[in-house]
This record gives sequence, structure tokens and C-alpha cells, in this order.
Amino acid sequence: MAYLTQPDYVKYICSCGQLKPITSLYFCRHCLKIRCGFCICHEVDSHYCANCLENMPSSEARLKKNRCSSCFDCPSCFHTLSTRATMAQPRQVVQDPAAGGDTKVESKQPKKMYYLSCFNCRWTSRDVGIPDQPVASGGWPERTNPHAARVNQLLEYYKAIALQEKQEKIERERKKFNIRGKYITLTDKTGLTGAMARNIAGLPSSESSSSAIASFVPSQAKEEVEELPEDIFTKEVNLNQITSMPQRLASPEWQPSSVSRLHPLAKLLSVKRSQRCRACDHNLTKPEYNPGSIKFKIELLAYYHVPEVKIISHEPVKPGGKSALLLKLTNPTGHEMQLRLLQPEDIPPPEEKEEPKSIEKSLERSLNLEKDTSSLKPMEVVCPPAATSRVRAPDATLTLAQRDDAAEYDDDAQHDTNDIIMWRKSNKLALRLEVETAEGAAGGAAAAALVALQYSYRNTVPPAAAAAQPRDHTLYTTVLLDLGTVSSN
Ligand SMILES: [Zn+2]
Ligand SMILES: [Zn+2]
Ligand SMILES: [Zn+2]
Ligand SMILES: [Zn+2]
Repeated sequence: MAYLTQPDYVKYICSCGQLKPITSLYFCRHCLKIRCGFCICHEVDSHYCANCLENMPSSEARLKKNRCSSCFDCPSCFHTLSTRATMAQPRQVVQDPAAGGDTKVESKQPKKMYYLSCFNCRWTSRDVGIPDQPVASGGWPERTNPHAARVNQLLEYYKAIALQEKQEKIERERKKFNIRGKYITLTDKTGLTGAMARNIAGLPSSESSSSAIASFVPSQAKEEVEELPEDIFTKEVNLNQITSMPQRLASPEWQPSSVSRLHPLAKLLSVKRSQRCRACDHNLTKPEYNPGSIKFKIELLAYYHVPEVKIISHEPVKPGGKSALLLKLTNPTGHEMQLRLLQPEDIPPPEEKEEPKSIEKSLERSLNLEKDTSSLKPMEVVCPPAATSRVRAPDATLTLAQRDDAAEYDDDAQHDTNDIIMWRKSNKLALRLEVETAEGAAGGAAAAALVALQYSYRNTVPPAAAAAQPRDHTLYTTVLLDLGTVSSN
């Protein structure tokens, strides 16, 4: 019997059908459903530099091309560059007429000068001839993109196209509601004019956009390309002088081919992200704004709400045979939990309660470019994955005590004489179960067993928000247990 402590041996079926370990799942307290990274909305909350922890709103980040203006990465090994100081003796050459035109060097007060250095690969800004700077922060010479004008032209053009498509969409939306006899113009309902809507979407006015489309010159493909240099195949290559592919691609504007053209890379900004349930729009995670904090304001992880299943051990799985399986169940919530094991097909189908979408909401959606997720509705259809075995679910309701952090220090587990429960300790329970494997399971194939859990859940959403909802719920989840491979005999 092997001990299987890695979490990925047990996967939960998300409400969208994805299989994920509990550590990468979320739990929406409003829909009472498990969600995964695939079926939630990811939103950028704030931009910050992971090195100096400066944070900024997204408009500023966009202006700075998502790069920090005071931190740099090494262009050679991508480690963060450090600023180093040296004392420099500024020299002044003075003509001395008394000495018959001889030159005399006068020393001035030594001055601190700064350069950038990589502690990992020893690259310095002096290697490529960047002059030392008199101030420690910033002031490093910037290189301009040789294609800046063309890039701006393209940007203008695509913005104009986006605006045109947006307008067509608003127009279509308006027609749709007109047919239904519920005609509401944006101006009537929200006081929004077309120009304001464009402003909200961050798009230029329609006049400038149509001129941008009209004056745009598309790129032309050329038949002739520049010839390679004569000696390309004969010249000896010095690998110390040419850049590697990652080094070249780290600065896409210049793509230096020689190491003497490497330039410090302004550090890319990181983002703090909040995550939202796609079905109900509530936040599942929301980080603290301060970039130095790793805490969350909202953190609805499945790990805190859904019973955790772990495999303690199991016997090898044989075709047509029965093998023992020891499972550990943990109640992570602050409330007592009633738990039952079921077969996946015994889960009652969820009752449908589709909220009718209001016209305003739909219009609001169509105005908001970034939040338009109507095409990404969560899929609620779940077809269980193939399993070679099934767990014989005992016909008993198990009670799991609430989480008690102090009980972590208790040594003694309670050993029940029960033939299902092997031991019980605080909010944890070890179960003695049996797995039946299908007769036709092929030897050497991956063995997996499906089991469904029915558990009671007490919703602790603040009473004001949950006034209309019952506090206690019966929820279901299905887990897939990885039982290694089917033995061949
Ligand atoms: Zn939800
Ligand atoms: Zn999902
Ligand atoms: Zn920075
Ligand atoms: Zn380096």
C-alpha cells in the first residue's frame, strides 16, 4: 500500500466540467457552486512593479507601456539590475599661459556617479557604453523605437475599426429592442450620448476615426528582400558577441543581434487580479490594493468551503475485483457538516432558475468593451469522466465537526469501532471503503474511481444580502480518485 499525499490524486469536477484539485478551485457563496479558473472572469485590479512596489492605475500603466520607469532587468540574463555607485574624479583641463601653453589638470571635488550592474551575470551598463548618471534613480537614456510612427498609425487605425464595430453593435442592439417594442435610446435611459459612450469605451470621436481609416496606408509585400551579406556562411561566428534568441526578443523594437547593442530592459509591471463569478458577477477573490500585501479582502477558495477528500491508501485495483480504499474527509467550515457518499448518478439534477436579463443590463454590457462576457457563459453541462472503478458508498450519514484550529495540537484520535469509520479526530474522518473495478478494465490502464459527496453547507453571507435565502443548503460535488493503474492479473 502506497501513501498518496499529493493533492492531485483527488480531482473535483467543477460546475463547468473541468477536473481540478481543490487547491485550484473557488466556491461562489451566491450561486453555491464550485468554480475554476476556466469559468470565472479575471479582472486586473491594479498594476505594480514587483521590484520597487510602486503601484499605478491602468491608464498610467498603459502610458508607460506596462513598464516601470525606475527598475530595469539585465538584458543578458533577465535578472533585476542593481544601481551601483562609484566615486568619479571629474577632470578639468585648464590652459596655463604662464607655463607657455602647457596644460595643467585641476582636480575638483570627487563626485558620486551611478551605473547599473547585474549581480547574476556581471553585465553592467558600462559594457555597452551607457554613460554613468549623476543621480541614482532614473535618468537613464531611452532609445526611441525606430518604427514608432508606423506603430502609432496602426494603433490609430485599429482603434478606429474597433469604434466602428462598436457603433454597429449598438445600432444592432437598438434595433433588436425596437422590434420587441421596448425601444429605449441610450440618451433617454441613461443620459448617455454617443460621444459619451465612445469616451467611456476609451475611443476617439467618430470624425477623427473615419479620417484615420481613410488615410491609412496598408503595408505592401515586396518581391525583393535585402540580400544576406557575402560572408554569412564563411565568417567565423563568435558566440560571445552575438545575442541569443531570448535576448533579442526581450526588446522586440530593436532586436539587437550583437551584445554591444544590449540595453537595460525596463521592468515589466505585474498585476493584482480579482476574480468574479461569471454567473452572478460577485467577487470570488479580491486582493488588498497595497502591492506589498499578500492578503485578500475576499477569498472564496473551495478549500475553505468544500469538504476535502484525501486518499490515505488503497489496495491495487484488479479487473472485476474489489479493493480496500481508505479516504480522509475534512470539514473546513466553521459549522458542523452532514456528509453522505453517493454514486454520481444519484445527484439530483439542479433546479433551473434563470434570471431574466434586463434591457439596461444588456445595453450596459454592450457599451462596456472589456466586460462583455455574454459569449463566455459558464457551461453547466457536466458529463462525468470515464472511471474504471466505483466506490461502494455506505448508506450512512456521517457527521463532521466544525474546524477547530486548537484541535490541531491534539495527539489522540478517536478510534470508533464502526466498520466504516476507521478514526475520527476533530473535523477529520477516516473512512474504510471498498472499490469495485469493472470486469473489462484493461490491465495497465489508469485506474480511477468516481464518488459523489452530499454535504450540508451553512451560508455565512452577511444577513442583509442573504435575507431572502435560506442559510442551510444541501450541496453536491463529485470527485475523481486516481488509483494508479489497473493490475494486469
Ligand atoms: Zn456566482
Ligand atoms: Zn469551472
Ligand atoms: Zn520599479
Ligand atoms: Zn545579468
